[in-house]
Amino acid sequence: MVKKEITSPAKLKKELEEAKAELVSRNKKLKLSVKTEAKKKVDKKKAEAKKKAEAKKKVDKKKAEAKKKEEAKKKAEEAKKKEEEAKKKEEEAKRTYEEELEEQLTEDEIKNFAIDKTDMDKLVNRVTEMIAGYATNGILQNILWRKLKLSSRDGSRLALKLEKLGNITREKILENGRWTYLLLIKKIPISTISIENAPCLVCPVEGKCSTDGEISPKTCVYIEDWVLTELKTKKRHETN
Ligand code: SF4
Repeated sequence: MVKKEITSPAKLKKELEEAKAELVSRNKKLKLSVKTEAKKKVDKKKAEAKKKAEAKKKVDKKKAEAKKKEEAKKKAEEAKKKEEEAKKKEEEAKRTYEEELEEQLTEDEIKNFAIDKTDMDKLVNRVTEMIAGYATNGILQNILWRKLKLSSRDGSRLALKLEKLGNITREKILENGRWTYLLLIKKIPISTISIENAPCLVCPVEGKCSTDGEISPKTCVYIEDWVLTELKTKKRHETN
């Protein structure tokens, strides 16, 4: 520090005032500096807090997204489960008594099905002929069983038997909201009944009969009468 020589009271006073002013100025600067530092610290803390808040916000957002994804996954799984259950129910509703029978019975059991006190060969021929009468249109099995006064239990087994014998085919169809079968002819049986009354079997001129000869089925009145009678009998069976 440089020592100053005091030459007069006035000068001393001036020197003191200058020193005082400088002290005030320094004090102000110091205060300002302290304030600035404090503000800086506060700002830094605020910035850190903001950063933390943003980081938390990001984490929360990620958590919310993960939760949303999890919920969507859960919903999709539930929807899939419901869809599968609905499909299963639909399949079960589609399942017919005949399909259950086919699973339970062996091929021999189906082929050898017989109804008590019934000539099964005759019944098979009769039913096959009836189905043949509906040609390519076929007939619904329940209608046929009603005509034949058969229970649906016996009818279903008989249809399976006819199919296994290769006489008919069964087409699964939805009728009035229920699954059933349309029976269609595949092979017309040769019925001994249908030819047992044929006039040719006892005809005395059968040996001379030929399609191009003088004696011929084309001009034979016996064969014509027999065919007409057979047709009438067949129609009567179909309408009964
Ligand atoms: S078609 Fe008439 S003629 Fe010929 S064998 Fe038969 S019944 Fe006899």
